[in-house]
Amino acid sequence: MTDSEKEPCVRCGHMPEKTDKYCVRCGAPLVNRCTKKRSPLHKGCSKVNRSDAAFCADCGSPTVFREAGLL
Ligand SMILES: [Zn+2]
Ligand SMILES: [Zn+2]
Repeated sequence: MTDSEKEPCVRCGHMPEKTDKYCVRCGAPLVNRCTKKRSPLHKGCSKVNRSDAAFCADCGSPTVFREAGLL
């Protein structure tokens, strides 16, 4: 799979445009990033996880999909 390929929206199945970050049909996030924010003690984590990952494979923080209630 290449970067230019997108997976369908996990909530409604709509196929997004290449550059879309959120589903235009239902507003669900399309990129399952880690939610760990930059803080004085941690540089944060922006890992893009698999679409079925509820928690980040790098740091164990909830992913965007988890926080959006998709998983
Ligand atoms: Zn959708
Ligand atoms: Zn992470």
